[in-house]
Amino acid sequence: MHQPGAAVTKKLQLPFVVSAFIAVVSLLSAAPAVRAQAPAENVVLIVTDGLRWQELFTGADSMLLSRRMGGIGDTAKYKREFWRPTATERRRIIMPFFWDSIAAKGIVWGNPGLGSNAMITNGKKFSYPGYNEMLAGAADPRINKNDFGPNPNTTVFEWLAAKPAFAAKVSAFATWGVFNEIFNAKRAGHLVFAGWEPPSMASIGTPDPSLDRSYRTTTRIWDNNTLDAPMQAALLNHVKAKKPRVLFVGYGETDEWAHLRRYDLMLRSAQSVDAFIAELWHSMQAMPEYRGRTTFIITTDHGRGELDAWTDHGEDVVGAERIWLAAFGAGVTARGEMRNANVTQAQIASTIASLLGEDFAKFHPRAARPFLQVR
Ligand SMILES: [Zn+2]
Repeated sequence: MHQPGAAVTKKLQLPFVVSAFIAVVSLLSAAPAVRAQAPAENVVLIVTDGLRWQELFTGADSMLLSRRMGGIGDTAKYKREFWRPTATERRRIIMPFFWDSIAAKGIVWGNPGLGSNAMITNGKKFSYPGYNEMLAGAADPRINKNDFGPNPNTTVFEWLAAKPAFAAKVSAFATWGVFNEIFNAKRAGHLVFAGWEPPSMASIGTPDPSLDRSYRTTTRIWDNNTLDAPMQAALLNHVKAKKPRVLFVGYGETDEWAHLRRYDLMLRSAQSVDAFIAELWHSMQAMPEYRGRTTFIITTDHGRGELDAWTDHGEDVVGAERIWLAAFGAGVTARGEMRNANVTQAQIASTIASLLGEDFAKFHPRAARPFLQVR
Protein backbone atom coordinates (compact mmCIF):
# COMPACT_ATOMS: atom_id res chain seq x y z
CA MET A 1 0.00 0.00 0.00
CA HIS A 2 2.96 2.32 0.34
CA GLN A 3 3.56 4.62 -2.54
CA PRO A 4 6.93 5.80 -3.80
CA GLY A 5 8.31 8.75 -1.81
CA ALA A 6 7.95 11.40 -4.48
CA ALA A 7 4.39 11.32 -5.76
CA VAL A 8 4.37 13.69 -8.70
CA THR A 9 1.30 15.83 -9.14
CA LYS A 10 0.35 15.87 -12.79
CA LYS A 11 -1.85 18.75 -13.83
CA LEU A 12 -1.65 18.25 -17.59
CA GLN A 13 -4.39 16.67 -19.66
CA LEU A 14 -1.89 14.07 -20.83
CA PRO A 15 -2.84 11.46 -18.24
CA PHE A 16 -6.39 11.49 -19.59
CA VAL A 17 -5.08 10.78 -23.10
CA VAL A 18 -2.88 8.02 -21.71
CA SER A 19 -5.70 6.46 -19.72
CA ALA A 20 -8.03 6.65 -22.72
CA PHE A 21 -5.35 4.88 -24.75
CA ILE A 22 -4.96 2.21 -22.07
CA ALA A 23 -8.74 1.81 -21.94
CA VAL A 24 -8.88 1.19 -25.71
CA VAL A 25 -5.95 -1.25 -25.54
CA SER A 26 -7.49 -3.16 -22.65
CA LEU A 27 -10.84 -3.30 -24.44
CA LEU A 28 -9.15 -4.83 -27.47
CA SER A 29 -7.14 -7.35 -25.49
CA ALA A 30 -9.84 -8.37 -23.00
CA ALA A 31 -11.14 -11.87 -23.58
CA PRO A 32 -14.91 -12.36 -23.88
CA ALA A 33 -16.63 -12.59 -20.50
CA VAL A 34 -17.02 -16.05 -19.04
CA ARG A 35 -20.71 -16.93 -18.65
CA ALA A 36 -21.92 -17.34 -15.09
CA GLN A 37 -24.82 -19.76 -14.67
CA ALA A 38 -27.16 -17.63 -12.55
CA PRO A 39 -27.05 -14.44 -10.51
CA ALA A 40 -25.55 -14.69 -7.04
CA GLU A 41 -27.39 -13.46 -3.97
CA ASN A 42 -24.16 -12.35 -2.32
CA VAL A 43 -20.75 -11.24 -3.56
CA VAL A 44 -17.56 -10.95 -1.53
CA LEU A 45 -14.54 -9.08 -2.95
CA ILE A 46 -11.37 -10.12 -1.12
CA VAL A 47 -8.08 -8.31 -1.69
CA THR A 48 -4.73 -9.19 -0.16
CA ASP A 49 -2.53 -6.16 -0.66
CA GLY A 50 0.45 -6.46 -2.99
CA LEU A 51 0.75 -10.26 -3.07
CA ARG A 52 2.84 -11.02 -6.16
CA TRP A 53 1.69 -13.36 -8.92
CA GLN A 54 5.10 -15.02 -8.62
CA GLU A 55 4.32 -16.48 -5.18
CA LEU A 56 0.67 -17.22 -6.01
CA PHE A 57 1.45 -19.22 -9.18
CA THR A 58 4.95 -20.53 -8.55
CA GLY A 59 5.38 -20.52 -4.77
CA ALA A 60 8.41 -19.36 -2.83
CA ASP A 61 11.38 -18.04 -4.84
CA SER A 62 14.72 -19.78 -4.08
CA MET A 63 16.61 -16.47 -4.42
CA LEU A 64 14.36 -14.83 -1.82
CA LEU A 65 14.53 -17.71 0.68
CA SER A 66 17.74 -16.04 1.77
CA ARG A 67 19.26 -13.73 4.34
CA ARG A 68 20.34 -10.93 2.01
CA MET A 69 17.44 -10.66 -0.46
CA GLY A 70 14.71 -12.11 1.71
CA GLY A 71 15.73 -10.83 5.14
CA ILE A 72 15.30 -14.32 6.60
CA GLY A 73 17.23 -15.26 9.76
CA ASP A 74 16.80 -19.03 9.82
CA THR A 75 17.04 -19.75 6.09
CA ALA A 76 17.36 -23.53 6.55
CA LYS A 77 14.03 -23.70 8.38
CA TYR A 78 12.20 -21.71 5.71
CA LYS A 79 13.77 -23.64 2.83
CA ARG A 80 12.69 -26.86 4.48
CA GLU A 81 9.18 -25.60 4.84
CA PHE A 82 8.64 -23.70 1.58
CA TRP A 83 11.03 -25.16 -1.00
CA ARG A 84 9.90 -28.06 -3.24
CA PRO A 85 11.11 -29.07 -6.72
CA THR A 86 7.94 -28.05 -8.59
CA ALA A 87 5.92 -24.84 -8.71
CA THR A 88 2.71 -26.83 -8.19
CA GLU A 89 3.98 -28.20 -4.88
CA ARG A 90 5.49 -24.90 -3.75
CA ARG A 91 2.40 -22.77 -4.39
CA ARG A 92 0.17 -25.25 -2.58
CA ILE A 93 2.25 -24.93 0.59
CA ILE A 94 1.51 -21.20 0.71
CA MET A 95 -2.14 -21.26 -0.36
CA PRO A 96 -3.71 -24.74 -0.05
CA PHE A 97 -7.34 -23.54 -0.01
CA PHE A 98 -6.74 -21.35 -3.05
CA TRP A 99 -5.32 -24.25 -5.09
CA ASP A 100 -7.45 -27.13 -3.79
CA SER A 101 -10.81 -25.35 -3.68
CA ILE A 102 -10.83 -21.96 -5.40
CA ALA A 103 -8.81 -22.93 -8.48
CA ALA A 104 -10.33 -26.42 -8.63
CA LYS A 105 -13.95 -25.21 -8.48
CA GLY A 106 -13.55 -21.71 -9.93
CA ILE A 107 -11.53 -19.65 -12.41
CA VAL A 108 -8.08 -18.09 -12.06
CA TRP A 109 -6.61 -15.44 -14.36
CA GLY A 110 -3.14 -13.96 -14.53
CA ASN A 111 -0.61 -16.80 -14.83
CA PRO A 112 1.85 -15.41 -17.40
CA GLY A 113 3.21 -18.93 -17.89
CA LEU A 114 -0.16 -19.85 -19.45
CA GLY A 115 -0.43 -16.67 -21.50
CA SER A 116 -2.99 -15.13 -19.17
CA ASN A 117 -2.56 -11.48 -18.25
CA ALA A 118 -4.31 -9.79 -15.31
CA MET A 119 -3.29 -6.15 -15.46
CA ILE A 120 -3.92 -2.86 -13.73
CA THR A 121 -4.65 0.05 -16.11
CA ASN A 122 -3.94 2.95 -13.73
CA GLY A 123 -0.18 2.96 -14.35
CA LYS A 124 0.53 4.03 -10.76
CA LYS A 125 1.16 0.55 -9.30
CA PHE A 126 0.31 1.48 -5.72
CA SER A 127 -2.72 1.02 -3.55
CA TYR A 128 -5.25 3.85 -3.70
CA PRO A 129 -5.22 4.07 -7.53
CA GLY A 130 -5.64 0.28 -7.66
CA TYR A 131 -8.49 0.07 -5.18
CA ASN A 132 -10.20 2.98 -6.91
CA GLU A 133 -9.81 1.24 -10.28
CA MET A 134 -11.34 -2.04 -9.08
CA LEU A 135 -14.14 -0.38 -7.06
CA ALA A 136 -15.13 2.44 -9.42
CA GLY A 137 -14.51 0.55 -12.67
CA ALA A 138 -11.96 2.85 -14.29
CA ALA A 139 -8.51 4.29 -13.61
CA ASP A 140 -8.56 7.90 -12.41
CA PRO A 141 -5.35 9.87 -13.08
CA ARG A 142 -6.31 12.42 -10.42
CA ILE A 143 -5.70 9.80 -7.73
CA ASN A 144 -1.93 10.00 -7.51
CA LYS A 145 -1.17 9.49 -3.84
CA ASN A 146 -2.39 7.31 -0.99
CA ASP A 147 -3.27 10.37 1.12
CA PHE A 148 -5.42 11.74 -1.71
CA GLY A 149 -8.41 12.13 0.63
CA PRO A 150 -12.06 11.19 0.05
CA ASN A 151 -12.66 9.40 -3.25
CA PRO A 152 -14.54 11.65 -5.73
CA ASN A 153 -15.72 8.54 -7.63
CA THR A 154 -18.77 6.47 -6.77
CA THR A 155 -17.73 2.89 -6.07
CA VAL A 156 -19.90 -0.05 -7.06
CA PHE A 157 -20.39 -0.56 -3.32
CA GLU A 158 -21.83 2.94 -2.85
CA TRP A 159 -23.96 2.51 -5.98
CA LEU A 160 -25.41 -0.80 -4.79
CA ALA A 161 -25.93 0.47 -1.21
CA ALA A 162 -28.32 3.12 -2.54
CA LYS A 163 -30.61 0.46 -4.01
CA PRO A 164 -33.47 -0.71 -1.74
CA ALA A 165 -32.57 -4.39 -2.27
CA PHE A 166 -29.13 -3.76 -0.76
CA ALA A 167 -30.01 -1.24 1.96
CA ALA A 168 -27.89 -1.94 5.08
CA LYS A 169 -26.50 -5.02 3.28
CA VAL A 170 -23.25 -3.53 1.92
CA SER A 171 -20.08 -3.32 4.00
CA ALA A 172 -16.31 -3.05 3.82
CA PHE A 173 -13.84 -4.53 6.34
CA ALA A 174 -10.13 -3.87 6.06
CA THR A 175 -6.92 -3.47 8.02
CA TRP A 176 -5.83 -0.24 6.29
CA GLY A 177 -7.33 3.01 7.62
CA VAL A 178 -7.24 4.66 4.18
CA PHE A 179 -10.27 2.58 3.13
CA ASN A 180 -12.35 5.21 4.94
CA GLU A 181 -11.27 7.57 2.13
CA ILE A 182 -11.22 5.03 -0.72
CA PHE A 183 -14.85 4.08 -0.06
CA ASN A 184 -15.64 7.69 0.93
CA ALA A 185 -17.20 6.47 4.19
CA LYS A 186 -18.81 9.84 4.96
CA ARG A 187 -20.80 9.77 1.74
CA ALA A 188 -21.02 6.06 0.85
CA GLY A 189 -24.12 5.09 2.81
CA HIS A 190 -22.59 1.76 3.87
CA LEU A 191 -20.43 0.56 6.74
CA VAL A 192 -16.66 0.95 6.42
CA PHE A 193 -14.60 -0.68 9.18
CA ALA A 194 -10.90 0.05 8.70
CA GLY A 195 -7.71 0.73 10.62
CA TRP A 196 -7.11 0.59 14.38
CA GLU A 197 -10.48 1.92 15.55
CA PRO A 198 -11.95 -0.91 17.71
CA PRO A 199 -15.11 -2.52 16.34
CA SER A 200 -18.31 -0.78 17.43
CA MET A 201 -21.70 -2.37 18.09
CA ALA A 202 -22.79 -1.01 14.71
CA SER A 203 -20.12 -3.09 13.00
CA ILE A 204 -20.18 -6.37 14.93
CA GLY A 205 -23.64 -6.47 16.52
CA THR A 206 -22.71 -7.79 19.95
CA PRO A 207 -19.89 -6.70 22.32
CA ASP A 208 -16.65 -8.66 22.04
CA PRO A 209 -14.43 -7.58 24.98
CA SER A 210 -11.39 -9.66 24.05
CA LEU A 211 -11.42 -8.38 20.48
CA ASP A 212 -11.87 -4.81 21.71
CA ARG A 213 -8.88 -5.35 23.98
CA SER A 214 -6.70 -6.71 21.20
CA TYR A 215 -7.52 -3.67 19.01
CA ARG A 216 -6.63 -1.33 21.88
CA THR A 217 -3.52 -3.03 23.25
CA THR A 218 -1.67 -4.73 20.36
CA THR A 219 1.66 -3.06 19.55
CA ARG A 220 1.14 -1.07 16.36
CA ILE A 221 3.80 -2.18 13.91
CA TRP A 222 2.14 0.07 11.33
CA ASP A 223 0.37 3.25 12.37
CA ASN A 224 -2.54 3.04 9.98
CA ASN A 225 -2.72 -0.68 9.28
CA THR A 226 -3.88 -3.19 11.85
CA LEU A 227 -2.90 -6.85 11.73
CA ASP A 228 -4.98 -9.23 9.64
CA ALA A 229 -5.97 -11.53 12.54
CA PRO A 230 -8.04 -9.09 14.66
CA MET A 231 -9.71 -7.70 11.53
CA GLN A 232 -10.67 -11.27 10.57
CA ALA A 233 -12.26 -11.76 14.00
CA ALA A 234 -14.27 -8.54 13.61
CA LEU A 235 -15.26 -9.62 10.09
CA LEU A 236 -16.62 -13.00 11.23
CA ASN A 237 -18.64 -11.30 13.98
CA HIS A 238 -20.00 -8.84 11.43
CA VAL A 239 -21.02 -11.50 8.93
CA LYS A 240 -22.89 -13.50 11.56
CA ALA A 241 -24.64 -10.43 13.01
CA LYS A 242 -25.36 -8.33 9.90
CA LYS A 243 -25.36 -10.80 6.99
CA PRO A 244 -24.12 -8.41 4.29
CA ARG A 245 -24.96 -9.21 0.64
CA VAL A 246 -22.06 -7.23 -0.78
CA LEU A 247 -18.86 -7.39 1.22
CA PHE A 248 -15.30 -6.09 0.77
CA VAL A 249 -12.46 -7.68 2.74
CA GLY A 250 -9.00 -6.08 2.67
CA TYR A 251 -5.96 -7.83 4.16
CA GLY A 252 -2.79 -5.71 4.48
CA GLU A 253 0.09 -7.77 5.86
CA THR A 254 1.24 -9.31 2.57
CA ASP A 255 2.24 -5.79 1.45
CA GLU A 256 3.63 -4.53 4.73
CA TRP A 257 6.02 -7.44 5.42
CA ALA A 258 7.28 -7.23 1.84
CA HIS A 259 8.12 -3.54 2.30
CA LEU A 260 10.08 -4.50 5.42
CA ARG A 261 11.95 -7.17 3.38
CA ARG A 262 10.69 -10.02 5.54
CA TYR A 263 10.09 -12.79 2.99
CA ASP A 264 9.49 -15.26 5.85
CA LEU A 265 6.67 -13.18 7.33
CA MET A 266 5.28 -12.30 3.91
CA LEU A 267 4.95 -16.04 3.19
CA ARG A 268 3.42 -16.61 6.63
CA SER A 269 0.88 -13.82 6.12
CA ALA A 270 -0.05 -15.22 2.69
CA GLN A 271 -0.66 -18.59 4.37
CA SER A 272 -2.83 -16.85 6.96
CA VAL A 273 -4.82 -15.01 4.29
CA ASP A 274 -5.50 -18.34 2.56
CA ALA A 275 -6.72 -19.80 5.88
CA PHE A 276 -8.82 -16.67 6.55
CA ILE A 277 -10.49 -16.96 3.13
CA ALA A 278 -11.25 -20.64 3.84
CA GLU A 279 -12.62 -19.72 7.27
CA LEU A 280 -14.85 -17.01 5.82
CA TRP A 281 -16.05 -19.32 3.05
CA HIS A 282 -16.92 -22.17 5.45
CA SER A 283 -18.56 -19.80 7.97
CA MET A 284 -20.74 -18.36 5.23
CA GLN A 285 -21.60 -21.74 3.70
CA ALA A 286 -22.85 -22.83 7.16
CA MET A 287 -25.47 -20.04 7.04
CA PRO A 288 -28.66 -20.49 4.98
CA GLU A 289 -28.45 -16.90 3.68
CA TYR A 290 -25.16 -17.73 1.98
CA ARG A 291 -25.09 -21.45 1.25
CA GLY A 292 -24.90 -22.03 -2.50
CA ARG A 293 -25.72 -18.37 -3.21
CA THR A 294 -22.41 -16.63 -2.64
CA THR A 295 -19.59 -15.75 -5.04
CA PHE A 296 -16.04 -14.82 -3.99
CA ILE A 297 -13.77 -12.65 -6.13
CA ILE A 298 -10.18 -12.68 -4.90
CA THR A 299 -7.38 -10.43 -6.15
CA THR A 300 -4.57 -8.01 -5.28
CA ASP A 301 -4.28 -4.25 -5.82
CA HIS A 302 -0.86 -4.23 -7.51
CA GLY A 303 2.15 -6.43 -8.20
CA ARG A 304 5.75 -5.84 -7.15
CA GLY A 305 9.20 -5.93 -8.70
CA GLU A 306 11.46 -8.89 -9.52
CA LEU A 307 14.48 -10.21 -7.62
CA ASP A 308 15.90 -7.52 -5.33
CA ALA A 309 12.97 -5.23 -6.22
CA TRP A 310 10.47 -7.75 -4.83
CA THR A 311 9.92 -5.47 -1.84
CA ASP A 312 8.84 -2.55 -3.98
CA HIS A 313 6.09 -1.31 -6.28
CA GLY A 314 5.18 2.00 -7.90
CA GLU A 315 5.22 3.73 -11.28
CA ASP A 316 8.89 2.97 -11.97
CA VAL A 317 8.87 -0.65 -10.81
CA VAL A 318 8.86 -2.99 -13.81
CA GLY A 319 6.32 -5.80 -13.47
CA ALA A 320 4.24 -4.25 -10.66
CA GLU A 321 1.39 -3.69 -13.16
CA ARG A 322 0.74 -7.43 -13.21
CA ILE A 323 -1.85 -8.82 -10.77
CA TRP A 324 -3.94 -12.03 -10.51
CA LEU A 325 -7.62 -12.64 -10.12
CA ALA A 326 -9.87 -15.54 -9.11
CA ALA A 327 -13.61 -16.14 -8.87
CA PHE A 328 -15.49 -19.04 -7.38
CA GLY A 329 -18.80 -19.91 -5.79
CA ALA A 330 -22.39 -19.49 -6.95
CA GLY A 331 -22.76 -19.35 -10.70
CA VAL A 332 -19.05 -19.74 -11.47
CA THR A 333 -18.21 -22.76 -13.62
CA ALA A 334 -15.04 -24.70 -12.79
CA ARG A 335 -12.54 -23.65 -15.46
CA GLY A 336 -9.35 -23.70 -13.40
CA GLU A 337 -6.42 -21.63 -14.63
CA MET A 338 -7.33 -19.69 -17.75
CA ARG A 339 -5.02 -19.90 -20.77
CA ASN A 340 -4.49 -16.98 -23.14
CA ALA A 341 -7.23 -14.96 -21.46
CA ASN A 342 -6.78 -11.40 -20.27
CA VAL A 343 -8.54 -9.38 -17.60
CA THR A 344 -8.05 -5.93 -16.12
CA GLN A 345 -8.49 -4.63 -12.61
CA ALA A 346 -11.07 -2.12 -13.91
CA GLN A 347 -13.43 -4.99 -14.84
CA ILE A 348 -13.99 -5.97 -11.20
CA ALA A 349 -16.60 -3.29 -10.36
CA SER A 350 -19.01 -4.17 -13.17
CA THR A 351 -18.45 -7.89 -12.55
CA ILE A 352 -19.65 -7.52 -8.95
CA ALA A 353 -22.80 -5.77 -10.23
CA SER A 354 -23.27 -8.32 -13.01
CA LEU A 355 -23.09 -11.27 -10.60
CA LEU A 356 -25.91 -9.64 -8.61
CA GLY A 357 -27.98 -9.14 -11.77
CA GLU A 358 -27.24 -5.40 -11.94
CA ASP A 359 -25.70 -3.33 -14.75
CA PHE A 360 -23.03 -0.90 -13.51
CA ALA A 361 -22.58 0.51 -17.04
CA LYS A 362 -26.01 2.12 -16.79
CA PHE A 363 -24.58 4.35 -14.09
CA HIS A 364 -20.96 4.57 -15.26
CA PRO A 365 -20.59 4.22 -19.06
CA ARG A 366 -16.78 4.31 -18.82
CA ALA A 367 -16.61 1.38 -16.41
CA ALA A 368 -14.83 -1.60 -17.94
CA ARG A 369 -17.19 -4.46 -18.81
CA PRO A 370 -17.58 -7.56 -16.62
CA PHE A 371 -15.26 -10.56 -16.90
CA LEU A 372 -18.12 -12.75 -15.67
CA GLN A 373 -21.51 -12.22 -17.29
CA VAL A 374 -24.69 -13.68 -15.88
CA ARG A 375 -26.65 -15.43 -18.57
ZN1 LIG B 1 2.77 -1.22 -0.60
